[in-house]
Amino acid sequence: MTIPFNRLQMLGDEAKFIEQALANSHLMGDGGFTRKCHALLEQTLGVGRALLTTSCTHALEMAGLLLDLKPGDEVIVPSFTFVSTANAFVLRGARPVFADIRPDTLNLDERKVESLITERTRLIVPVHYAGVGCEMDTLLEIARRRGVAVVEDNAHGLFGRYRGRALGTFGSFSTLSFHETKNVSCGEGGALLVNDPRHVERAEIIREKGTNRSRFFRGMVDKYTWVDVGSSYVMSDLLAAFLYGQLLEHERIQSRRRALWETYHRELAGWAAAQGVSQPHVPAECEQAYHMYYLLMPSLEVRTRFIQQLRQQGINAVFHYLPLHVSDMGRTFGGQVGDCPVTESISDRLVRLPFFSTMTEQEQTTVLSAVRDFRC
Ligand SMILES: *Cc1c(COP(=O)(O)O)cnc(C)c1O
Repeated sequence: MTIPFNRLQMLGDEAKFIEQALANSHLMGDGGFTRKCHALLEQTLGVGRALLTTSCTHALEMAGLLLDLKPGDEVIVPSFTFVSTANAFVLRGARPVFADIRPDTLNLDERKVESLITERTRLIVPVHYAGVGCEMDTLLEIARRRGVAVVEDNAHGLFGRYRGRALGTFGSFSTLSFHETKNVSCGEGGALLVNDPRHVERAEIIREKGTNRSRFFRGMVDKYTWVDVGSSYVMSDLLAAFLYGQLLEHERIQSRRRALWETYHRELAGWAAAQGVSQPHVPAECEQAYHMYYLLMPSLEVRTRFIQQLRQQGINAVFHYLPLHVSDMGRTFGGQVGDCPVTESISDRLVRLPFFSTMTEQEQTTVLSAVRDFRC
């Protein structure tokens, strides 16, 4: 038996909705299924406006355009994240300033943010790693006091909460990913959540190539024209049909992921303690989104052996982000080894176990016994 790291899930009416979209002869964006996804996200999360996009990366780019970022502006991002968290703003000429992460949650360390703020800082981008909320009270307080915007990269945290409030509803904007590896997916896709009502109209314009097409379709203007900058960020209704099938099943997806996560956590606790391996930490104020299950091994050498030993048994465990500050691009912004010591250490030691909502009990039992057989 081989156990992949991730497997595409089809849990509900994805195929039926795709057939309906074909029958509707409406494959371009903003059709019936897109509107259904928007309404579902707005109601479940309590956000003013949700807009499906072609990816989370594109939603982050939209945030950069909406904030009118200019060359020389500085954006504080964690070094331990996906490239797009930084690159979307670098496209606007902004300079990424890499902050280290907390050793417990692996989230942007709010205690290190303030000292990185300069006169040029425009934005802080927290990433809710693994779907566990960042320390938003402190981050929002710093941002408010220093006059800096907050955009949440919530690619991992859909349906997670911090102090009872949905992740993705704290920043002026937040972004979601529906990439195949995320909890809810349509292969490639994302969304921009707009929490500040003053930005809604312009977000619609930027998403529609800089035109006021959305207002035209609502009958609010009698012709549509070029009114601002923008690009083509609208998701096809065919993909939205697939996505709607998944979103309707989100409670089932989340509860299955929760059961798998809790089983890993409970069943590996004794082994981890004996081997000097750390398990994930979820603060009491966070209801996590169950995006992944990871372990922190004692060293890079142990992690390499661990991944190899599992692979020999057909189990695909993987490592995660390489520190952005010492990547080829990160170094061009002055990043150096030693700038973010927690990120550097975690990146070498973190390993993610196979984790997907269609994982069977037998598959998880196989992974558990293979992990428990490993000696550090
Ligand atoms: C997956 C991911 C992205 C990119 O998502 P796409 O939809 O593939 O563009 C961005 N940020 C984080 C933290 C991610 O995990």
